[in-house]
Amino acid sequence: MQTYDNWIDGGYAAPAAGRRMTTSNPYTGEVWAEVADDPDAVGAAAAAARRAFEAGPWAEMPAVERARLMRRLGEILTRDADELAAIETRDNGKIIRETSAQAHSLQSYYDFFAGLADKIVGEQIPGPSPNFLVYTERVPVGVVGAIVPWNSPLLLLTWKLAPLLAAGCTAVVKPSELTPVTALLLAERAAEAGFPPGVINVVTGGPAVGAALGAHRGIDKITFTGGGDTARHVARAAAANLVPTVLELGGKSPQIIFDDADLEAAANGLLAGIFAASGQTCVAGSRAYVQRGISAEVVERIVARAGELVLGDPSDPATEMGPAASDAQRDRILAMIEQARSDGAVVEAGGLVDPALGGRFVRPTVITGAGNHTAIVRNEVFGPVLAMLTFDDEDEAVRLANDSDYGLAAGVWTLDVRRALRMSRALHAGTVWVNTYRTVSYTAPFGGFKQSGYGKDNGREALDGYLQTKTVWVELTGATRDPFVLG
Ligand code: NAD
Repeated sequence: MQTYDNWIDGGYAAPAAGRRMTTSNPYTGEVWAEVADDPDAVGAAAAAARRAFEAGPWAEMPAVERARLMRRLGEILTRDADELAAIETRDNGKIIRETSAQAHSLQSYYDFFAGLADKIVGEQIPGPSPNFLVYTERVPVGVVGAIVPWNSPLLLLTWKLAPLLAAGCTAVVKPSELTPVTALLLAERAAEAGFPPGVINVVTGGPAVGAALGAHRGIDKITFTGGGDTARHVARAAAANLVPTVLELGGKSPQIIFDDADLEAAANGLLAGIFAASGQTCVAGSRAYVQRGISAEVVERIVARAGELVLGDPSDPATEMGPAASDAQRDRILAMIEQARSDGAVVEAGGLVDPALGGRFVRPTVITGAGNHTAIVRNEVFGPVLAMLTFDDEDEAVRLANDSDYGLAAGVWTLDVRRALRMSRALHAGTVWVNTYRTVSYTAPFGGFKQSGYGKDNGREALDGYLQTKTVWVELTGATRDPFVLG
């Protein structure tokens, strides 16, 4: 078993005696690493991040040099991508195809935001009279607390780190207790790339560590990705300090298939949307609305394909679907399927633990006949469960799809370009995919509407989230003014 300490101020720092927890491989059950779980460590990490932000090499570093360090970090992450992907798969059971693609994509995020780092500009604005020069500066918000989940640990962390580093902020990172190690390895690599001590700090551990970070007064902004219930705790704690938050939360994203769609492409999109990553992805397309005339055919295709998916060892490149990340997660998925049955839905495929593999392998599950108001259609499962419903026309599709507490993403499958555009305008979702699903990029803002959160990762908007505007007024004449008159 390997033991890791927290990463604080440029090096590993041991937690207080006895404050540790373990992490295990969800496929084998092997407990393979022990990490720190010490809420008191948040104070040292926040203090290190504050020192690095306010004085020393990072605070004084020209933006072009910050960008150089970010590019170097990206290169190192690509150099070590296979090793990092293997560790992520060991920790969360996600298939190696996906962790590997994600690990190899990290460099692009650092490159993209490095390219923006030295293009952060304010503006000169007209004052009330020519006697003033008025301009704005865009300045970093300061020390950012970044709390991230287990399903795509390094990628989702990078969605936060790359823009905040470009902005000139410093960070205290809290990875999920299920996947704590790769964030530490990233911090090590950032030191290798030349980032000064204190710029990136990592405190591992469970909810108490996250709560300590969310409530810490030395944090200027919290960026959080995770579940809605946790987000409410985070937002409340941050609000007590008047600290702003970015919240990237879950979803119940609809996929709408019209009868003029390319059905092969749509079927692939449905499968990718819900069974990739075993449904353990925030953008899981977990509700499918299929136009009535093609509904039976589409259900048949999806049921057939669900039965053919290759389940197994997530570290085998041939595997298409891995296990649920924890026993609790598996039990929750099965309980929600049972609830759907008792609400009158029909389980067309799956609905059980794989008889051959056992353990945490829930078979790809397809459910029909559920009402739009039942739990399986309304609540996030975070597992390989697709609820398939029908609709008659565009208006009904929009109404059913928008009748949700969430608004993270939506998919539309049609070859009619006008309809595609009408639908993307009508759908309440932070991302609408037309004839594709689950594509993301460093260039494109990503984030939810409604209970899927607020604020954006990725794109220029993410950088804006780590900057604030300072307005500077300069009096140009030297004239003495009436001290009791404004302006
Ligand atoms: P989670 O909410 O349980 O945990 C997220 C993080 O919060 C973890 O690091 C956890 O330790 C920490 N935490 C727990 N209690 C806390 C508290 N009181 N204060 C502060 N931090 C606390 O989420 P999870 O189970 O790790 O991830 C799954 C959820 O994340 C799903 O709902 C999924 O949809 C969502 N998600 C959203 C996105 C997105 O970008 N919108 C991406 C991936 C996952």
